[in-house]
Amino acid sequence: MIPNWLLQRSTLTPDRIALLFQDEQWTFKEANEKALVLAKKLTASGVRQHTRIAIYASSNPQIIWMMYACMHLQCEMVLLNLRLTGKELAYQIDDAAVDFILVEDLLMEKLPITKVSILSFSEINASPEQAIIVATEWAENQTMTIMYTSGTTGFPKGVRQTVGNHVSSATSSVYNMGLVDTDCWLCTMPLFHISGFSMLAKSLLHGVKINLYPKFDVVKIVDELVAGTVTRMSVVAVTLERILTELEVRNAKASPKFLTMLTGGGPVPVDYLKRAAKLDLNVAQTYGMTETSSQTATLSGADALRKIGSVGKALFFNQIRIDEAKKPFEQGEILIRGPHVTPGYIGRFTDKPSQENGWLHSGDIGYLDDEGYLYVVDRRSDLIISGGENIYPAEIENILTSHEAVREVGVCGVEDKKWGQVPNAFVVLSEDVESNELLAFCRKHLAAYKVPHQIHIVGQLPRNGSNKLLRRKLCELLIKE
Ligand code: AMP
Ligand code: MG
Ligand code: MG
Repeated sequence: MIPNWLLQRSTLTPDRIALLFQDEQWTFKEANEKALVLAKKLTASGVRQHTRIAIYASSNPQIIWMMYACMHLQCEMVLLNLRLTGKELAYQIDDAAVDFILVEDLLMEKLPITKVSILSFSEINASPEQAIIVATEWAENQTMTIMYTSGTTGFPKGVRQTVGNHVSSATSSVYNMGLVDTDCWLCTMPLFHISGFSMLAKSLLHGVKINLYPKFDVVKIVDELVAGTVTRMSVVAVTLERILTELEVRNAKASPKFLTMLTGGGPVPVDYLKRAAKLDLNVAQTYGMTETSSQTATLSGADALRKIGSVGKALFFNQIRIDEAKKPFEQGEILIRGPHVTPGYIGRFTDKPSQENGWLHSGDIGYLDDEGYLYVVDRRSDLIISGGENIYPAEIENILTSHEAVREVGVCGVEDKKWGQVPNAFVVLSEDVESNELLAFCRKHLAAYKVPHQIHIVGQLPRNGSNKLLRRKLCELLIKE
């Protein structure tokens, strides 16, 4: 059994700051009290303990108190992504068979019409309170959150993340990164994704402060980094790049009080890592996914340059294996095992096993080097096969981002009569350049068959709620052109 995180944390460190948001702050005791009051109001509104509910809200303190209230009720929280269309929301609400949808008032009109009862945050707040008995302990295999992961083939799958998954993930993370009294996580990642939610888990389990931002605001974020008012942050490649540019433009560095910039969620161009190193910014590349409740492997700062491009070694409780690889450097599917791996899916995928003989098949291709450091090559499903040759988009993206006029790159395969598929690149520029020059640059650095057949200069790349590149959507850009 695991102690109820909220009760335990507010007993251990009641007066410590749990959350900062704009000019307001709350201690763990206050956070717990808010959660208890809301749990009683939710109960009076008809929400029963141990049932499944959906939450649809933006990043602000209210959603956190609502999630904490649901934790007290041991509800399974289906965290709905704000970027979903009405049809996608309807699919998830139906697939998860939730009893209620808790929704921020401003988002009411974006909800599709379903048979499910809706409770707006203001309705919940206005409700009377009904007494409840709050569990002081939670079972490790109790499902705490459910997040949908966009299946590359067909329907999104609802991934169960248990209390035990979150605890082991947060514990491995702290074994890897350490913990200091002054720790404060700057949170700009969406709370409905594991990148954001895992910060709440860390906050409650480690007793650290969260500085929550409603959205990514590069000027304010860099102010915090330079002032040293935050110590850790999670980013994806594109947000890292924006922070690097802002630091470079200001000719500034993050304060030495700032400790870790956890960077993952997708391939991180080596060029960004080099720029970070020049700024003495401690970037820890990490490999994680919804099915592993966040990090599986992380590269420590000490290895950042020596193992540039690697996502490090498996964290303490976890194991990584490359399917069918007989020796170091052989590529294959990355298999993952550990207490952070989901026990399975819900809804229409309830019967689909998430593991084979205890190993999660990640769908990613990678290899381990001779010292056991993991390198993620790319997603298996994004592989481009051109005239029988395998091309991984990440390799081309890496080369193009190293060009000084290029800020961001996305590569996808486009149907071709002669070759089957050919790579096309979409680039966002930081300064003017002809696509011919970029092609010449590719020819210099890549085998001929990997050189993009076309380079499209675009204003922005399609990204999901966590700012991760959506390569599948790149081809749709072409159809629109
Ligand atoms: P998600 O399915 O949204 O949870 O995202 C997980 C996927 O993101 C993984 O399966 C990888 O394809 C990708 N990913 C995460 N971290 C990295 C990384 N550091 N390098 C390359 N790909 C990554
Ligand atoms: Mg996935
Ligand atoms: Mg560049």
